[in-house]
Amino acid sequence: MTPETLDQERLDEPWQELLQAAEAARERAYAPYSRFLVGAAVRAGSGRIYTGANVENASSGLTVCAERVALWKAVSEGERRFEALALITAPGATPCGACRQVLAEFQSGLPILVADTAGRAWLTSLAVLLPDAFPHVTYGEGPTLEIDPGAGSPEPDA
Ligand SMILES: [Zn+2]
Repeated sequence: MTPETLDQERLDEPWQELLQAAEAARERAYAPYSRFLVGAAVRAGSGRIYTGANVENASSGLTVCAERVALWKAVSEGERRFEALALITAPGATPCGACRQVLAEFQSGLPILVADTAGRAWLTSLAVLLPDAFPHVTYGEGPTLEIDPGAGSPEPDA
């Protein structure tokens, strides 16, 4: 289901603040190969906002997405809980699959604002974008999984 299209200027103050941080980060993207500029901003449990931009590499596989840059900055500063993520690209792209899984490591239901550069936005969540994330694994005497019973998909039709 496609979420409702929102007008960025009508977002509430916390989302506007997060989106503005993502827009500023997008200006700092290092994307000389694709020229696909991405900015992300995540609000951590402490209230602090961490930003990220995509950082490309001539060896394409080494490129890192804006969302992961923002999240890794926050985690490396001691943050472990996250409240919201804003992401902005020219066409309003959602986070890639790799970033969805990385975000799910910390907050399975993270609210996500996806924005384009034409003033539109869409509010979604990680639970919608990645309903069956790889679960947390406890390693040691035989790995065990921590399944979030609320995050699973319904039983398939017989
Ligand atoms: Zn990504």
